[in-house]
Amino acid sequence: MTEIFTGSFTQQEPIPQAGIDAAMAVMLHGRLHRYNVVEGETSEAALLEVEFAKATGANYALAVASGGYAMGCALRACDVLPGDTVLTNTFTLAPVPGAIKSVGARPIFVGVTEDLLIDLDDLEAKLPLARVLMLSHMRGHICDMDRLVAMCDAAGVIVIEDCAHTMGAAWNGVPSGRHGAMGCFSTQTYKHINSGEGGLLISDDPDLMARAVLMSGSYMLYDRHDAAPAPEHFETLRYEMPNVSGRMDNLRAAILRPQLADLPAQVQRWNDRYGVLDDGLAGATGMTVIPRDTKESFVASSYQFLLLDWSDDAIRDVVARCLARGVELKWFGAPDPAAFTSRYSHWRYAAPEPMPESDRILSGIMDMRLPLTFSLEDCAQIARIIRAEVEIVYQSQAK
Ligand SMILES: *Cc1c(COP(=O)(O)O)cnc(C)c1O
Repeated sequence: MTEIFTGSFTQQEPIPQAGIDAAMAVMLHGRLHRYNVVEGETSEAALLEVEFAKATGANYALAVASGGYAMGCALRACDVLPGDTVLTNTFTLAPVPGAIKSVGARPIFVGVTEDLLIDLDDLEAKLPLARVLMLSHMRGHICDMDRLVAMCDAAGVIVIEDCAHTMGAAWNGVPSGRHGAMGCFSTQTYKHINSGEGGLLISDDPDLMARAVLMSGSYMLYDRHDAAPAPEHFETLRYEMPNVSGRMDNLRAAILRPQLADLPAQVQRWNDRYGVLDDGLAGATGMTVIPRDTKESFVASSYQFLLLDWSDDAIRDVVARCLARGVELKWFGAPDPAAFTSRYSHWRYAAPEPMPESDRILSGIMDMRLPLTFSLEDCAQIARIIRAEVEIVYQSQAK
């Protein structure tokens, strides 16, 4: 009997009732703009910033329009100028090199290892090529941050973290986003808290954050931020920073606050699902599962494995066979960009150098979303299906 999975890989959970109630309250009073407050009122956006700073342990937090905006804003705050080069991961998604390009800079890609981490040896070799590293914790895989930060500090390279997939995660007990000068988060529907679109930026550096707050469109209302640097940090900067509007509104912030409070429990639920998948795929024929370092506290909102050195045709066969049984795998090796998946060689505006060692890994990456609407039994079934289909194709290849 061939079982077929019938769940949806793109269906997230509903917004919690507390978020719906808070959103209704904002709509009923009509003050959706974050600076539209009555005497004595603190806006939902400002409250979210305070709570996010607390949750991550950062001195400062800023709520913005998207994760992509947070990255562009961080690059501008770090004074990345047109014509500059910025190091970033070869294994990431399009908004990352896109944010670099949006400030007129050019991404230089750093390789990926079989553990799906940034290749720290390749990074070391390329550190002299740029002032800034936009480090993408792609699909929640966190590299040895102690080594990375030591290397970047020694070379005078500023680290900006793209934490779109690591909200709620940590390396060696330090929350993701707190290792570099700035951390960028997304609250888009497919990330860890969901406001449709949205982003958050954190930092401990008062000057970087004052620049970001002014840029995000605070006009001279930065005193309505309760997780921002003290007013003296704005005194000169307020004449120097351009306004590049990208604020978050109170409606989104209202939806996000209860979700942020629930995040630790949600992280556990994601990781329970990951555990079932990982157990179900352990020792499977033909595939490589991704090992995780014990210092990495990850948030498993997705699952990856490798079909390393498989032919394109065999991988296409696995994708098609799994899809026929309801399991949607994304492949990072496809010759053309498809849906959300693309890879460095598709980003022609960056004029990337060929990276044969990374190509070998990227060509074998199989990726799948893990929404919380999946039950533990769903995950066990998905593992059985993948295991069986990979094995069938593997055996037919071996003949
Ligand atoms: C989603 C995502 C972003 C950008 O987030 P948006 O809020 O969609 O702009 C950045 N980096 C990665 C790796 C992402 O997946």
